[in-house]
Amino acid sequence: MWEIAVPRTIAAGEGALEYLKQVKGNRALIVTGKTVKRMGFADKVANYLREAGIGSEVFEVEPEPSVETVIKGAEIARNYGPDLIIGLGGGSNIDAAKAIWVLYERPDVEVGSINPFMKLGLRKKARLIGIPTTSGSGSEATRATVITNPAEERKLESPNNELVPDIAIVDPEFPRAMPRKLVAETGLDALSHAIEAYVATVGNDFSDAIAIKTIRLVFKYLRRSYENREDNEAITRMHIAATMGGMAFSNSDVAIVHALGHVTGGVLHVPHGRAMAIILPYSVEYNAKVAMQKYAEIAKAVGIEAKTDNKAVEKFVEALRQLQRELEEPASLKEAGIPREEFEKKLDDLTSKAIKSVILRSNPRPLNLEEARKLFVYIYEGKKVDF
Ligand SMILES: [Zn+2]
Repeated sequence: MWEIAVPRTIAAGEGALEYLKQVKGNRALIVTGKTVKRMGFADKVANYLREAGIGSEVFEVEPEPSVETVIKGAEIARNYGPDLIIGLGGGSNIDAAKAIWVLYERPDVEVGSINPFMKLGLRKKARLIGIPTTSGSGSEATRATVITNPAEERKLESPNNELVPDIAIVDPEFPRAMPRKLVAETGLDALSHAIEAYVATVGNDFSDAIAIKTIRLVFKYLRRSYENREDNEAITRMHIAATMGGMAFSNSDVAIVHALGHVTGGVLHVPHGRAMAIILPYSVEYNAKVAMQKYAEIAKAVGIEAKTDNKAVEKFVEALRQLQRELEEPASLKEAGIPREEFEKKLDDLTSKAIKSVILRSNPRPLNLEEARKLFVYIYEGKKVDF
């Protein structure tokens, strides 16, 4: 059986924020970050809510929020008593909103213990709205939440279908303000969601269809959105693609890119989007051995022509690296400025954490300690190895 979960409502496109005026509720807790707040986005949301007769309060979280922040947010929620929790911002703000919401509804639950099989019984106190300001994580439409445990340099992945927001508001007004670097990294993250969803062992007809369309949209619009920050069509379509990428992986899974990427984020403090952007082409090379046909289908979907699947996948990896270059993204951890000494010192930690990642369960090709080590060295150096 496939259990597909998507938001009840997705309001997408120009003017989507107006949808807030139709929302029912009394009090909203807006979970957001410093930059988003400074740009006046939280005020904008609060103004729309006011028109719907809904009061609001803002809770500010740091980038890549910690368990402590989430616990504090839940306390604030308990004092304020919102019937709406709104995650506004990049993926980590929306993820924080999800986790705060869970602890608000279920004070007996620990963030790290949430798993897909738990019956959480949410929505007794509040409903959840996701409003993305970047075009990447797709968190507004996913069951995933990633919270950082700084003490253990670890990312807690806590998926559950009940965590899919009730409403996603996908308005291009917000990503229009993104700096180009963020456009590139969040865009490649969205692409990695769709590619991983498509090759993950738990994929299905629903996630496959959404994933392929997402990949096509990213290949068509990400460059344009990066090169011309006034290209409204590209910005809007990339914003929608990011939400779709979320829907794809939320109903399939992410795989090795996110397994290694979360570890890289936790141990080497590389931001989520950048980590995924770097790892993506390497992952295709590693997985191709066992998922050749799937990658060849993706290659075909983006217009690559080749006589054999093998050749198509080779060309696809090259297309990914080309896209990376055009978006001026580093091609390796070394290029991303991670000092060699630090990398070597932390390599054992990286590999041992990577092979324990639960996300790897959905990767088409298993990863053992030795392979993980080779792969990390390859991702650091960018010099070809045989797996
Ligand atoms: Zn991601």
